[in-house]
Amino acid sequence: MSDFFANTDLSFKQQTLADSFVCMGRGLHTGLRVVMSVIPAEENTGIEFVRRDVTHTDNVVLARWDKVSDTELSTTISNANGIRVSTIEHLMAALNASGIDNARVILDAPEVPIMDGSSAPFIELIHKAGVVQQRAERQVIVINRPVGVTENKASASYLPSAVPWLDMSIDFSQRLIGRQRLSLPFTSQLFCEEVAGARTFGFEEHLMELKRRGLARGSSLDNAILIANDRVVNREGLRYADEFVRHKFLDAVGDLALAGHYVIGQFKGHRSGHRLNNQLLRELFASNCWEMMPLRQAHDIWVDFMQEQEARISKSA
Ligand SMILES: [Zn+2]
Repeated sequence: MSDFFANTDLSFKQQTLADSFVCMGRGLHTGLRVVMSVIPAEENTGIEFVRRDVTHTDNVVLARWDKVSDTELSTTISNANGIRVSTIEHLMAALNASGIDNARVILDAPEVPIMDGSSAPFIELIHKAGVVQQRAERQVIVINRPVGVTENKASASYLPSAVPWLDMSIDFSQRLIGRQRLSLPFTSQLFCEEVAGARTFGFEEHLMELKRRGLARGSSLDNAILIANDRVVNREGLRYADEFVRHKFLDAVGDLALAGHYVIGQFKGHRSGHRLNNQLLRELFASNCWEMMPLRQAHDIWVDFMQEQEARISKSA
């Protein structure tokens, strides 16, 4: 019997960084320069953002679904005193896919640096810093019954599944993008190889309006794919033929990491963006479609299930 969990780095214990790392860059929307350090944190902290540029005594924002305060073009979290951090999703995806449960992210601006518009630079920095196991057991969310949200032609749902899985599809009127779909089990290796390098994208016809509204001020051809007249403007072209759906997949990993625990279930998203991804988590936690248990226990249930299936198949053969 092949053991899915043995082939992933889903550790039974919580994990944090072995060492800190620092990076510098600009915020995609604010255009502000930012220095960001990510440091190890103690067990059961989760991912915590600290705004060291604000004088308010409460400068900490927990990266959790119920702290999401804005989802227009990026995911923003805020604490009770209105201290906010925006565009957290690409970093959250990198931390989540690298198996980091606990970390503290210290910034001197209200937005995470955009780097190259993907998660790849963060993945590299995390790999260099290293990952260490902690003593506390890792708790996971197991999906027992389907739960979902829809909005116009978009939908997002979780279905019961023996292993973590994501299935994302998009449908754009622009011919360059059109319909694209990516369906993959969620493992660190697959995320790094198939998803991490996919960049954010935007349309030239929207750019002026966005900048006028104070958005996309830090965007450039070094941190986003720009599309004009159904063509990619960037000289280097695309990193993957279907880079657009891969980026939406990446965004979903980052947004859903705000569940605060790994989810053992299948995410199915169709045209799902930051807003709907967050709505799904709100719907999930308001429902009784899930159960929290140690990953070790979820794994044992999975092994029993697979053995039962195999016994049934060999009996009927
Ligand atoms: Zn994104």
